[in-house]
Amino acid sequence: MSERIALYPGSFDPPTLGHFDLIYRAKRLFDRVIVAVAINEAKTALFSVEERIEMLKEELNNTPGIEVTSFSGLTVEFAKKCGAQALIRGLRVISDFEYELSLAINNQKLEPSIDTVCLMPSEPYLFLSSRQVKEIVRFGGNVSHYVPKRIEERLRAKLLGK
Ligand code: ADP
Repeated sequence: MSERIALYPGSFDPPTLGHFDLIYRAKRLFDRVIVAVAINEAKTALFSVEERIEMLKEELNNTPGIEVTSFSGLTVEFAKKCGAQALIRGLRVISDFEYELSLAINNQKLEPSIDTVCLMPSEPYLFLSSRQVKEIVRFGGNVSHYVPKRIEERLRAKLLGK
């Protein structure tokens, strides 16, 4: 049988424990998981694409079957180029549903051969988002239960200059 490959696209600005949880759980379902930072000029990010790739790679530590890259343009086009049969997305709260559903339907229209697989977060990460992590750090709060140590340090350096 051919390899089962999933593409996990996202902003990852920065990657959180919610993202890593999804990556490892997706790896149980697929032979290869390609984590891809979406290059989106329309969105302002705190970390550069290179920094986000570096953070993902540092934590994933060459786990077999998990790769990290970036892409621009249509997600489904990149998925096809990678030989992926599925896109991984996360469904946290009800508010994610409408957005993820419209994304999945539009991607299905663009490329019917690629399916979207939505995974629910593990319970501790249900209400965790990169945006809220940045806000908590900006106001001096503790995010050690939400991001790996190295990423917490990078956030502090970037947002608080320390
Ligand atoms: P995007 O800009 O594509 O939404 P994100 O990096 O915010 O990029 O998220 C990428 C994907 O990961 C999305 O499908 C999002 O719902 C999912 N995700 C983000 N945080 C979590 C989490 N804590 N648990 C599960 N899925 C998550």
